[in-house]
Amino acid sequence: MEIEQRWGEVISRIREASKAARREEGAVRLVAVSKTYDADDIRPVIAAGQRVFGENRVQEAQAKWPALKAGTPDLELHLIGPLQSNKAADAVALFDVIETVDREKIARVLADEMKRQGRTLRVYVQVNTGLEPQKAGIDPRDAARFVAFCRDDLGLVVEGLMCIPPVDENPGPHFALLARLAGECGLSKLSMGMSGDFETAIAFGATSVRVGSAIFGPRS
Ligand SMILES: *Cc1c(COP(=O)(O)O)cnc(C)c1O
Repeated sequence: MEIEQRWGEVISRIREASKAARREEGAVRLVAVSKTYDADDIRPVIAAGQRVFGENRVQEAQAKWPALKAGTPDLELHLIGPLQSNKAADAVALFDVIETVDREKIARVLADEMKRQGRTLRVYVQVNTGLEPQKAGIDPRDAARFVAFCRDDLGLVVEGLMCIPPVDENPGPHFALLARLAGECGLSKLSMGMSGDFETAIAFGATSVRVGSAIFGPRS
């Protein structure tokens, strides 16, 4: 099957899952995760109508996206991978949304960099719902305090929360936890769900799902 057909299938599955969960039409957006795929794989998906894309590495994104963005000005690029401070300037210059704000230092650096560049990116706070030691993200117990810090002390535009559940666990409870935390923080957006579990995430209230391999095929 061609990439644009698989993209169409994912769009249909999102629509079906949204209907089944009695979500409003258009309430769930697709972030097409194009990491490891090159511009030739991405172009047909843009041509098919997809406008929101996710990348997990700043350098890789810098190599592909300036040219793709130039051809399609309404593209929206999300950083969904960990961000180091020394890449913050490049990230602010290229991305539209940073989904992985997970510690005070990077939040400060991003806020400074946005002021310096005169660019206001929307951000998500990443929450480590499984408390996995190797995984990025704020401890769920600190989420409300950290969101308030980002919003009130730094002036960041915090749009929502993001999580990546542990691979070997039922994701439902993690999605439920993220939804509850967002409610406590007064946030309405939830970035959760990937190729293997996006329908479950939609049932738990995802407002965007990050889907890569179901569209682009398995990554080598
Ligand atoms: C790679 C990645 C995805 C997409 O994963 P698939 O299983 O290929 O859909 C989603 N979110 C994050 C943070 C990722 O790194």
